[in-house]
Amino acid sequence: MIFMQQNTPNSFLNSNLQVQFSISAKDILNLLNSPQEMAIVSDLWTGDGFYETNCAAVQLGMDVQEFCLRLRAEREIAVQKIRLCIDEWIDSGKRVDKEAAYKRTESRASEAALEAAAYWETSRIVFDRLGTTSNPRLLPRDGSDFENASWKARRIIALVLSSDLRLRIAKCRYEKCKRPYFLLNRPNKTYEHGMFCCIEHNRSATVPRRMQKRRRQFQAKLIEWAAAYVRRNGIADWQKSVPFKEKLAKHLVRLIAKEYAPPRDAITKNWVTRNWVEIQAKAAV
Ligand SMILES: [Zn+2]
Repeated sequence: MIFMQQNTPNSFLNSNLQVQFSISAKDILNLLNSPQEMAIVSDLWTGDGFYETNCAAVQLGMDVQEFCLRLRAEREIAVQKIRLCIDEWIDSGKRVDKEAAYKRTESRASEAALEAAAYWETSRIVFDRLGTTSNPRLLPRDGSDFENASWKARRIIALVLSSDLRLRIAKCRYEKCKRPYFLLNRPNKTYEHGMFCCIEHNRSATVPRRMQKRRRQFQAKLIEWAAAYVRRNGIADWQKSVPFKEKLAKHLVRLIAKEYAPPRDAITKNWVTRNWVEIQAKAAV
């Protein structure tokens, strides 16, 4: 892992800094994508098996089972905290429907920024001279707690916010996506309808929304056309005249026929009746 100040320029982070640590981007994605039950037994935490074999040796008469349960509960909270902060961070790049990684900012992700800052403040670098490598390691300032879930959660949040992952981590916006967290290839692109892990999920999520939008826009166009017709040919109380409304409907059908793939092709006088207030308001402008 490379330790960076939080205010290191983004341009440097984007191009030069890759995640280098015993925690890989894949580990983080796996943790985020796992169901809760799996996430709390991830390799990122020290497993229960470790305690079962070691705690009794460390402290005679210790209730290992109770100890493990407590740590599990702590890890559960830690996993929730990670998801919350990473989601907040990813969402900070959203502007209504549009989403872009380069727009992400700490000012819109205060919880994540706070956790990352707390991490840098409560951690210290130690040089592991006894180990096989002499790489520096970052440990909680208080080393007495050898399984500190909240510190480990902060470490992941800080890692995401200060490495290339800050722009590469993304969440698929398709509600039914089974593994929504993924790595983004194009952090400088603006995604009009949000980010998706694959084309299929993009389509499944956005086609109904796009269709709705097209229908709304087409309805506005129809009102506009109808209003123009009323302005040109309108008679007093035209909304009460069935022949006029029929003529208007026919006029609209002719205009629709000229459109490429219109969302609707049939218009009757009933549509005119339903929308007459709006048409009249537009025509009067
Ligand atoms: Zn997906």
